Amino acid sequence: MSVFDHRLNRPFSAGQVQKKVETYEYHDYPHYLRIRCSGMEVLAVAQFSCDVLIVGGGGGALRAAIAAKERCPESDVLLVSKGVLGQSGVTATACSDRMAFHATLPHTPPGKADNWRFHAEDIYRIGGQVSDWDLAEILAKESAAAYDYLDELGVPFVKEGLVPKQFATDGSEYPRACYTGPRTAVEIERHLLKRFRALGIRVLEHVMVAELIREGSKIIGALAIDERVREDSAGEEDGFIVPIAAKTVILATGGAGLIYKNNVFPAGMSGDGYVLAYEAGAELVNLEFIQIGVASLKTKLNLSGSLLRAVPRLVDETGTEFLASYFPPGTNPAVLHDYIFRKGASWPVSFEHDTRLIDLAISRRMREGHRVFLDYSHNPEQFDFGHLPERDRAGYAEEMVADFGAEARQASPLARLQEINPASVSWLKEHGINLMAGDKVEVAACGQHFQGGVKIGPNGESTLPGLYAVGEAAGGQHGANRPGGNALLDSQVFGKIAGEAAARESRGIIRASIPAEVVTSFRHEMERLSRNQGERPDSRLSVRDARKGLQEIVDASVGVVRTEAGLRRGLAELEKLRNKGMTLAGLPYTLGLETRNMFTVAEMVMRAALERNESRGPHLRFSDEDSDVPLPRLDPEWQRYLVLYRKEGEMVVEGRAPIKSGCDRD
Ligand SMILES: Cc1cc2nc3c(=O)[nH]c(=O)nc-3n(C[C@H](O)[C@H](O)[C@H](O)COP(=O)(O)OP(=O)(O)OC[C@H]3O[C@@H](n4cnc5c(N)ncnc54)[C@H](O)[C@@H]3O)c2cc1C
Repeated sequence: MSVFDHRLNRPFSAGQVQKKVETYEYHDYPHYLRIRCSGMEVLAVAQFSCDVLIVGGGGGALRAAIAAKERCPESDVLLVSKGVLGQSGVTATACSDRMAFHATLPHTPPGKADNWRFHAEDIYRIGGQVSDWDLAEILAKESAAAYDYLDELGVPFVKEGLVPKQFATDGSEYPRACYTGPRTAVEIERHLLKRFRALGIRVLEHVMVAELIREGSKIIGALAIDERVREDSAGEEDGFIVPIAAKTVILATGGAGLIYKNNVFPAGMSGDGYVLAYEAGAELVNLEFIQIGVASLKTKLNLSGSLLRAVPRLVDETGTEFLASYFPPGTNPAVLHDYIFRKGASWPVSFEHDTRLIDLAISRRMREGHRVFLDYSHNPEQFDFGHLPERDRAGYAEEMVADFGAEARQASPLARLQEINPASVSWLKEHGINLMAGDKVEVAACGQHFQGGVKIGPNGESTLPGLYAVGEAAGGQHGANRPGGNALLDSQVFGKIAGEAAARESRGIIRASIPAEVVTSFRHEMERLSRNQGERPDSRLSVRDARKGLQEIVDASVGVVRTEAGLRRGLAELEKLRNKGMTLAGLPYTLGLETRNMFTVAEMVMRAALERNESRGPHLRFSDEDSDVPLPRLDPEWQRYLVLYRKEGEMVVEGRAPIKSGCDRD
């Protein structure tokens, strides 16, 4: 660790420190070194240094840190996380009906030596051929090793004997989804964390990385800020800036769910990594493809799988069942019930699944000013279990954990849910929704996963030397759709690969320190952030109102329904809101930084969505907001991904052909 002179804001030289320092004590908050030098006490800003800096604390970050340390034990690895490890980010907190981890294991069908190829083809084909084939190949080939590692750490995957149980997700050709239950991700985080702690890797919690620092085209570290420092206390407490010199940096900052008003992400997921990379000069890709699906607003639980296969009623706040009004007149009720049932297995909205009609009906009902609920207390109008298609009934039978008989099965959605997934009834009760007492589940189409991100190559490297990205922060490995289970997989596969590659790369680099003037200019920027450069001081919004305004714009323009006019209007409104400026009024600086980042991510998503004038995956483009039929998918013209980067201060969106070599498919 090197140190800065707190008053002069310049580094102490190593000689100075060795000769004069009698004692020093590190204060974790604010980040000071209290040094006794020649009988005097000095407060110094600590400058951390490391070989590999890992930004984030989820599954991708932990796997990268562990791999760097296991591969190069001499490597000095520092992990910096905005929240507390094991309690923040998606991996540590997300739950759904049955959370999936995709892997092609030796026994996975079709069971041939090259069965990884079927997995890679699913990622690429279901993804709409707008991802890189070489990355899909790596994901599929390395999936068994990723599974084995977690299994050895003790992640309690459900097994039959020694063989993990696997099920098929989102159109995958073969069943590959391993699971522990609703908390697969939480279990992965918990077990990785144990290993991480056992390796004694250094960590800073409550610290948000705010800026990457470059020397020429090479990353040399980052500036971070303590999330506990509030705007009104920073004047006295200078230790809120944390400079970190690093030879290589891995971004594992997750997605940007907070740009949506309706989302299932935990707090703090503001897409910081996308903005850090973009501002440093790296490329991003596929930002218009975001998984959106029906989820509970109160509990953030995805209403997928058995929760829909129980065929609940879709009602508004008046109790009116509305689904039929958004289907062609005269649609047979049994057809509607089949759609609800099948939605369970094709949860995120997708152009390629006709069940998108359910998401469209919900979002249209909401746009008309209604609230929407799933009601498990009564059957949908004219429901008859026996009228469900044979394949639905067979799927239901496979899922049954109890047999209450045909009469009970016909009685209500709740009775069916008790038969196929009683745990979800208890889970909802624990989280304040008592289906047994007739509570309804309020739902909306919610943002769940960013398929795109910082454009990576086979080693998880970005287009900027020294910078890597993994997990949801990374892009190019997934296309428009992502078969469920491949996000947790990619955080493990590319986490390991990038961790090892960054540690190896660091060996040949001489560490630079963060120049003092960079810290000074960052300090001034923070001061400006708190009394932001709005057009007129009286027009400034509180940071919370700015966030709310942004989320409304994002939901309206890049939610389920996307139109050219809506996107242009959204971009104009976003710009207007940004120009109003915002005030922190005593709130933490990190809230302001996150909100600033959310503006940039929202703009990226909207610009990419505007450029793609076709439908593909979750990107449903309509000619106008009242149109029922999405614009077609344009193959092969639009088998291109959109790359975003900054050039002379402007956001550039550029279509490029993905890497296809090695793929047999046209
Ligand atoms: C409800 C839900 C269900 C899901 N179900 C599945 C599923 O069944 N299968 C599947 O494969 N995927 C699923 N996903 C997606 C998957 O869980 C995530 O994509 C994955 O966990 C992301 O891991 P990560 O390590 O990239 O990011 P995260 O786990 O989100 O971690 C990001 C970390 O970065 C930190 N951070 C962010 N910004 C900064 C900063 N500036 N400075 C320092 N730290 C920062 C955060 O605090 C956090 O610790 C689901 C997601 C949700 C929300």
